[in-house]
Amino acid sequence: MTRIYHNCHLCGGKVSERNIRHDYHWGDELIAIIENVPAGVCEKCGEPYFKADVVKEMERLVRSQEKPKKMITVPCREFAVGS
Ligand SMILES: [Zn+2]
Repeated sequence: MTRIYHNCHLCGGKVSERNIRHDYHWGDELIAIIENVPAGVCEKCGEPYFKADVVKEMERLVRSQEKPKKMITVPCREFAVGS
């Protein structure tokens, strides 16, 4: 399926489709990482754009009870310099 993307809303750059890794957030909380997501990515600033069908499929995947491809655990630290 070929998806058509408008130029970037932020910088006007050309947006072309790539498969990216998307960190899926619910509010501030990272709730899933989804790999190989087809998204329009701005060639200048890197802003990703998702089509409605892709957003729907990501929502389905996040709610899915199927076993994930893998589970990863990452350290969470507080930035402690300055302020
Ligand atoms: Zn841009």
